Amino acid sequence: MTDICTPFLVETSIPSKDSLKVEQPPFSVEMEIDQPELCQFLVHNVSAGDLSRLRTVMMSQIDLMAIDIVEVYMNSSALPDETIVHRLGLVPILCETIEDFVGVNECECDEKGCNECSIPFTMEVYGNPLTKTAITSDDIVLVDVRCMVLPGNRFPLLYLREGEHVRLDGKIMKGNGRLHSKWSPVSCVVFKKVENDTFRFSFESTGLLSNGDILEQALKVFYA
Ligand SMILES: [Zn+2]
Repeated sequence: MTDICTPFLVETSIPSKDSLKVEQPPFSVEMEIDQPELCQFLVHNVSAGDLSRLRTVMMSQIDLMAIDIVEVYMNSSALPDETIVHRLGLVPILCETIEDFVGVNECECDEKGCNECSIPFTMEVYGNPLTKTAITSDDIVLVDVRCMVLPGNRFPLLYLREGEHVRLDGKIMKGNGRLHSKWSPVSCVVFKKVENDTFRFSFESTGLLSNGDILEQALKVFYA
């Protein structure tokens, strides 16, 4: 294996343009764009194979939390249960202590959701008699403070009219993009050859992790 990513491990985040330049071969990086949803940089002295593997790791081997089990007790809305459950799975869940949890496919509870691998949530909303009621990610109620819905976004889930009622509960579990894309921290990862051994690498974050965290965690797996 080459020394492809040693510079990233030294720089645990991406503070500014040029800060990741390294003087010594075999590997160097030039940051071009470092925005909340987009990270783009030039990589020198690296093979397409190594970058392909880094891309795969980034998409499928970084652990996140997401809603995985849902029990619907009441749903008199216009949407079927399956659509609501699918939308719930895509709600971004922040977790600062994800290492405390066992992965969904590694726990001895056989994916039923126990204290070791999951956090419960509930949601109950009634339609407003005067206006259409929007159910958003803010209506997901978590008692365990170790996880929270990504704040400040109010992701829309569905609307209720007068007399309509939705009540459900479920479990938030730990997984990665190899199991389902809802656990992936990136929505797009691409790289393109610029010249001989130089590539332009870019990825888009879903907003749960910073660009630096995504790179750092991907490289830990890369070198494991
Ligand atoms: Zn379990």
